[in-house]
Amino acid sequence: MIDSHCHIDFKVYNKNRQEIIQRAQKNLTAIVNSGASLGGNRRTMKLATEYKDFIYPTLGFHPSNAFKSDESVIKQVLEELKSNIHLAVGLGETGLDFNQLDEESVKKKQITLFETFLGLAEEYQMPLVVHARDAEEKALEMVKKHKTIPDVIFHCYGGDLVTAQKIVEDGYYISLSTIVCFSDHHQQLAGELPLSQMLTETDSPYLSPFKGQRNEPAFVEETVKTIAKIKSMSVKEVDKVTESNARGIFGF
Ligand SMILES: [Zn+2]
Repeated sequence: MIDSHCHIDFKVYNKNRQEIIQRAQKNLTAIVNSGASLGGNRRTMKLATEYKDFIYPTLGFHPSNAFKSDESVIKQVLEELKSNIHLAVGLGETGLDFNQLDEESVKKKQITLFETFLGLAEEYQMPLVVHARDAEEKALEMVKKHKTIPDVIFHCYGGDLVTAQKIVEDGYYISLSTIVCFSDHHQQLAGELPLSQMLTETDSPYLSPFKGQRNEPAFVEETVKTIAKIKSMSVKEVDKVTESNARGIFGF
């Protein structure tokens, strides 16, 4: 089993990171940690070096960080990304987050940066981890203009079913997070979308399937179990297909 998207580099794990990773190592074969900031990318690389062949890094910059950061930070992110590209298994997370966002200038900034990442994924021929929230259609429209990107994952997808169907029809992937354990909408997505285009993740530290408990990669098992139940398949079968999807995309 693989957690195809999490953030165990986040400060909230400073006190028990090792314990969390050990628990993950007991249940999972790999985790993909996605950098979301300049410091996050650095910490992600460090973790990937420390836990070689278990933690795999993708390097990115979260759209919600785009408007808070000045140009020099973004420039530094892109420079470090390029010099570490050989160590990464993918790019992202990147994308568009228009949730509770009215300012056109901020949206524009996100769009510009996302466009840069799309170009890089094309240039370096790497899979891209996309965060799209309240902007799924727009993100898909932008992705489709870059036909030579090897694979694109709409991680922690929460948009509507129609757009999700377009995403899979275009050959891209949808990753369902632990939110599927308690959200009717996500359970509907799990039921309707094909397993062949599906990945599983936790998006830790967010979206814990257990009330009052912080999310962690080991809990991806709950995502797999829930999808299996909805699809009336065995946990083993869902695990096999989603793990093989993730391995195929990231190449490990
Ligand atoms: Zn994330």
